Amino acid sequence: MINKLCIIGIGLIGGSLARALRDIGHVREVTGYGRSVGNLRQAVELGVIDRVEVSLVDAVRNADMIVLAVPVGGMAEILDQLGPVLSTQAVVTDVGSVKGSVVTAARQALGTRFTQFVPGHPLAGSEQSGVAASTPDLFQGARVILTPEPETDAAALARVQEMWQTIGAQVATLSAADHDRILAASSHLPHMLAYCLVDMVVRHDDHRAILECAANGFRDTTRIAGSDPVMWRDICLANREALVAALRQYRTDLGALVEAIEKGDGPWLLDTFARAKHARDGLNKKN
Ligand code: NAP
Repeated sequence: MINKLCIIGIGLIGGSLARALRDIGHVREVTGYGRSVGNLRQAVELGVIDRVEVSLVDAVRNADMIVLAVPVGGMAEILDQLGPVLSTQAVVTDVGSVKGSVVTAARQALGTRFTQFVPGHPLAGSEQSGVAASTPDLFQGARVILTPEPETDAAALARVQEMWQTIGAQVATLSAADHDRILAASSHLPHMLAYCLVDMVVRHDDHRAILECAANGFRDTTRIAGSDPVMWRDICLANREALVAALRQYRTDLGALVEAIEKGDGPWLLDTFARAKHARDGLNKKN
């Protein structure tokens, strides 16, 4: 049971976590701290949080669980403010989509209290953002990756693990470096491709005609290009090395595809598409 939960950044992910914990009665009180007053007010009106605090110090006072749910680029600033006021009772975790940069910022900002920080990332979400899009069942059946460091306190790790499991998520642990490399391929790369594809099409001379003819294939492939640009700029900048490696690999494979089409290499195309279809069909069966 969490006595006082403080969510910093009450958007899609922070709001959904608060709703889920409230729905099952796993939390007594939820306070929120964020940036725009309008969003925070809406979070109270929607019943996502009990109270808004205008100062971070007040928001985290007596909190036993603090969740950082701001875009990755905003984490360091929040952690810097949190460092001097963090009590020894509180466990701090985050939901950022990149882990290495957040871990570095937390280590610097929290000093000896870094042991109380449990880095995390729920693999659930959507292209929508803001507290109005939050839902209590977002994490039901979802995977949550925690990337504890050698210094991470075992009891703090267990508390964060329990928080996610209580709302129906499956928790796994990875190193921050493995997380960032794997997520670069599974999540960050597809987002880059979707943004790039839509941007390429809208800059085309015939873009109106192309978009008028865009059916489900285009819509399915590009749904995630509707995601928040600030969030994705931050993810690119924070996971630069792994993402560039994934993009370079993709560019090489795209080059091979261009060559095969130019040469009219039917067998190569058939092999590649059949291999991909087999893998994609397997993914459907797993889910
Ligand atoms: P979101 O819906 O845009 O919510 C972010 C919230 O943080 C907003 O309420 C925003 O306030 C607030 N905020 C932004 N910058 C801030 C700052 N500097 N100080 C205080 N508050 C600030 O975003 P989200 O989708 O919930 O994403 C939150 C985190 O979860 C990100 O780190 C993201 O990488 C991670 N994540 C996202 C997904 C996904 O699919 N969306 C999935 C897994 C993890 P305003 O209302 O004032 O803008």
